[in-house]
Amino acid sequence: MVSYIIVTGGVVSGLGKGITTASIGKVLKIHGYKVTAIKIDPYINCDAGTLRPTEHGEVWVTEDGGEIDQDLGHYERFLDVNIPKCQNITTGQVYSAVIEKERKGKYLGKTVQPIPHVTDEIKNRIRKPAQDSNFDLILVEIGGTVGDYENVLFLEAVRQMKLDGDKIVYVHVTYVPVLDALGEAKTKPTQHSVKLLREIGIQPDFIITRVKEPLDDVRREKIAMFCNIHEEDVISNSDVENVYGVTLLFEEQEFCKKILHKLHLRKDHNELKDWKNFITKIKKLDKNVKIGIVGKYFDIGTSQLSDSYISVIEAVKHAAWNNNLRPEIHWINSKVFEKKPEELSMLDGLDGVIVPGGFGLSGIHGKIDAIRYVREHNIPYLGLCLGMQLAVVEYAQNACNLKDASSREIDKKTTHPVIDFIPDQINILQESRYGATIRLGSYPAILKKGTIVQQLYGKNKVHERHRHRYEVNPDYVEILEKGGLVFSGRSPDGVLMEFLELPNHPYFVATQAHPEFKSRPMKPSPLFDGFIKAAKGKSKRTDFEPCVSIN
Ligand code: GLN
Repeated sequence: MVSYIIVTGGVVSGLGKGITTASIGKVLKIHGYKVTAIKIDPYINCDAGTLRPTEHGEVWVTEDGGEIDQDLGHYERFLDVNIPKCQNITTGQVYSAVIEKERKGKYLGKTVQPIPHVTDEIKNRIRKPAQDSNFDLILVEIGGTVGDYENVLFLEAVRQMKLDGDKIVYVHVTYVPVLDALGEAKTKPTQHSVKLLREIGIQPDFIITRVKEPLDDVRREKIAMFCNIHEEDVISNSDVENVYGVTLLFEEQEFCKKILHKLHLRKDHNELKDWKNFITKIKKLDKNVKIGIVGKYFDIGTSQLSDSYISVIEAVKHAAWNNNLRPEIHWINSKVFEKKPEELSMLDGLDGVIVPGGFGLSGIHGKIDAIRYVREHNIPYLGLCLGMQLAVVEYAQNACNLKDASSREIDKKTTHPVIDFIPDQINILQESRYGATIRLGSYPAILKKGTIVQQLYGKNKVHERHRHRYEVNPDYVEILEKGGLVFSGRSPDGVLMEFLELPNHPYFVATQAHPEFKSRPMKPSPLFDGFIKAAKGKSKRTDFEPCVSIN
C-alpha cells in the first residue's frame, strides 16, 4: 500500500520547502523506495504558463508539456524521475473540474460544496499517481503557508485522508529566526504555526526547522513540548552551501529511518555512498569557471531574482562539477548593453556566455549585441530557445548581409522574418488564447552526423523539452547555411531547426529546446557539458583581462 508524506509550511514563505521535499524524497529513494512527488499550488491559475518569471520564478516544463511551478524541477533533479503534469494541482484546475462536473449533472442533484465536493476532487488527484503506477511513497507538498486563506481546502483534504485510512505522515517546515538584538533563536513563530495547523485538525509527525545554525537542544525541547511531538522528531535543517547537501543533514539525523518507522516500513538497502562522495567532491572544488547569463528577468523591486533561471543555473552547476570546476555565475542585464555598448567588452572576462529563454521585447537588442560580441571574440556561447532565435537573427544581420533580419516577435513588419510563428500559432494569438497553447514538452530531433552537437549527445536521435511560439523560418535555412551556419539537428520531418552550431569557433551552439530541464546532478546535459569544457579551455588563456563591471 502506498504511503503519503504531506509537507506543509509555516511562519514565512520562501523557506525552501521544495528543496526540503525533494531531499526527503531523495533520501527515501537512496534507501530503495519507489518515490514520486506532487506539488499543490493554491493559486487560481490552471498552470504556471502565464505567470511572469519575476513573480513566481521559472516555469518548469514537463516531458508531457506541463508548464509548472519550479518545485517540480527540484523533484525531478533530486529524484532523477520524470514527473507528469497531473502531479501539479492548482485551485484553478480543481474548481474547473468541479464546475464542469456540476454542469454535466454529475452530482445528481446534490448541493455542490467546498466540503466534500472540492476536497473529494483534491483527494482524487492526490491518489491518482498511485493508481497509475506502483509507488511506495508519494510526497505531497502544499504550497503557501499555514494560515493562508487559499490553501485551507487542500489542508482539509489531506486531513481527511488520514481518516479515510490512507497511510500518512505529516511534516511541517517552519522557520526559527535569530533576532539580531538578542542573538537568540526564537521558537515562538513555530509554536504559533503548529497551533494553526492543529486548529485545522492536523498534528504534525515531524517539524523541520529552517535555521541558520543547527538547532540546539534547548530549542528542540521547547518545540517538542509546545508542539506536542517527540524531541527526536524535531529535525534541524540548517543553512548549507549546496542544496544537494540537505540530504546529508537528514541522514545524520536518521530522518528517513524515523519516517519509515512511523509508516511501519522496513529500512531497505542504502546507496548513500556515491551521493555522499559526490557532495564531498563538490565541496572541495577550488578552480572557478566564470559563466555569464545574459537575461532580463532579474529585477523584483530592489532585489534580484535568480529563481527565474533556476534550471539553467542548476544545469551549469551540474556540468561544472562534472568537469571539476566551481561555477561562478555572473548576472548580466542585457539592457546595459543597449545604453552603453562599450560595456560589451566586459564579456571578455568570462569563460562562457549563455543567453537563456525569454519572452517579449525588453533587453532583446542588448542580447543580440552580446551574441555578436561572443561570436566575433571566440567566447564560448550556449543559446537556449530565445538564445538560439537571437543567434539566428544576429547571424542573418551581420554574417549573411540581411540587415533588416529579425524575429516576428521583435518586429512584426520585418522584411526578413528569419524567426517566425510556428504556423498554427497565428490563430491562437489572434484569439488571445495564451494558456498552454505554445509548443510544449518533449519532441525528438535528428542530429546531423559529425556535428559538435551529435558528438556531444553521442547519438543520432535525441528528445528535449520545448516551450516556444516562434521558430527558424524554413525559407531562410538555405541562405543561413550558405552563410556558414550549421543546423545540426532538425525535427524528424526536417522542417523545424532544433540545433545550430558554428564551425571554427571554440563553442557556438544553440538549441530551440530547453536542455536544462533534463540535466541532473550526476548526469549533466551534454550541451552544457560541452559548453563548460570549452569554457575551461578558454579560462586557460591569458590574453583576457578579468572583467571589471558585471551587473
Ligand atoms: N519567445 C520565444 C518564443 O516564444 C522564445 C521562448 C523561450 O525562450 N522559451 O518562441
